Amino acid sequence: MDALTPLEPEIHRLIKVAGPMPVAEYMSLCLTHPEHGYYTTRDPLGRDGDFTTAPEISQMFGELIGLWAAAVWRQMGSPPNLRLVELGPGRGTMMLDMLRAAQVVPGFRAAIVAHLVEISPALERRQRQTLGGVDVPLLWHRSLDDIPNGPLIVVANEFFDALPVHQAVKLADGWHERQVGLDAEGNLAFVHAAATLAHFEGTLPEAARSAPVDSIFEWRGQQAVFEIARRIGQDGGATLAIDYGHTESECGDTLQGVVRHAYADPLDTPGLVDLTAHVDFHAMAVAADSMGVSVHGPLTQREFLSRLGIERRADTLKHRATPAQAAEIDSAVERFLNAGTGGMGQMFKVIAFADPKLGVPPGFEH
Ligand code: SAH
Repeated sequence: MDALTPLEPEIHRLIKVAGPMPVAEYMSLCLTHPEHGYYTTRDPLGRDGDFTTAPEISQMFGELIGLWAAAVWRQMGSPPNLRLVELGPGRGTMMLDMLRAAQVVPGFRAAIVAHLVEISPALERRQRQTLGGVDVPLLWHRSLDDIPNGPLIVVANEFFDALPVHQAVKLADGWHERQVGLDAEGNLAFVHAAATLAHFEGTLPEAARSAPVDSIFEWRGQQAVFEIARRIGQDGGATLAIDYGHTESECGDTLQGVVRHAYADPLDTPGLVDLTAHVDFHAMAVAADSMGVSVHGPLTQREFLSRLGIERRADTLKHRATPAQAAEIDSAVERFLNAGTGGMGQMFKVIAFADPKLGVPPGFEH
């Protein structure tokens, strides 16, 4: 048996007591265990951390999202009390850039209370530092459920990929839930439940039903989407979610570990590496649609940011920039929009859910 991380004995104990656990439970423990979870214990972002996100690459990203939110607020009829909610705000950078950019829209900032939904005490501390000088009321919550009712705009960048994912593997006799158990040497290993998942095949999209043996299908509980959609339906508003993933549900094992900007085995060093899985935008859209809100997109990040005018924003910034800063701005735009390796343009998608009364949110016009 390899050396253990602080979380590993706890996982071994749970498996010994209750048997192998679903991949989703494993992922949840690894990321958000109250003492030893990956997010609970650290700030993983940035060049010196494990991964970099769009708001950390350039201020333009948050600024455009801020202008998007202000435009949606106007579509809502400029309500005087708006909950501006961010799910998983990381270092608080996007919120800071959003609020600064949105100053240009009269009345918007005065209408806002910002609600930050963050499960990690370490990142909450970081967000409080980043947003220390901001003159908008800020409230932190561990869960979306704790936000008071009322009109809201929700934004989430790279949040949904961090939510626990379930996996099923297709065997000769049908689909079985994939689990994490212990092998003969006592190391963590992927196994599967003995029983087949009843009625599972019928819930799958057409393309996955005829999948060959050994195929893997992933799904998430859509609690967050249901809760956001319920609130939008009740009090009005919209949501914008940006993440990497696929527009159509399909088979594939996308669970991955990431550490120091490189892929890692998801079963190695639990609690010390980031775990993510692609977002199934189709499944999110179906969940939102079932709650009666209107669904816009998904679009590629390239298309969305282009429509919001990122090129124009970059030009404006470059007027005031040194040559080195101008080069940085160009390289950020390229990274946001590019389809190739290292580029986010194609891999990242953007979806919005809105109160049907609102019309089409900016960027999603046909
Ligand atoms: N949006 C930020 C950070 C993305 S990393 C950015 O783009 O830079 C994912 C974020 O979601 C982190 O802040 C993490 O702590 C938070 N998070 C992960 N799981 C969560 C959960 N279940 N509830 C609330 N926040 C969560």
